[in-house]
Amino acid sequence: MAEALQIEKAKQLLKQYYTGQRMESPNGGFLILLGVRPQESGPAVGVFECSVSSLRYEIVIPKATRTERKKVRDVLQQGGDPGCPRHGPDSRLVRAGKNLVCSSCGVAYARV
Ligand SMILES: [Zn+2]
Repeated sequence: MAEALQIEKAKQLLKQYYTGQRMESPNGGFLILLGVRPQESGPAVGVFECSVSSLRYEIVIPKATRTERKKVRDVLQQGGDPGCPRHGPDSRLVRAGKNLVCSSCGVAYARV
């Protein structure tokens, strides 16, 4: 497998990713999600392929902020079923080891 390139200024791309929009590739075309790798410490790495160049890119998906964690914890405490703070209520958090993780962004939002 070819080595993936890092995208540093990914903020705009991540915004598109969270809202389910097409992510523009640095080479033209758009980025296709290949997979998300959750990281032990909370963030995740999204692996994408450019639709035009077939180059692979990795984007670090930042770990949950304090506000996001609180939001999820509040829902849990009320006995609710929390959704992903970034992807919205339709993306349910799933248990992965000791963490509650969004299956779309791979970020851990709570401990269980
Ligand atoms: Zn998510």
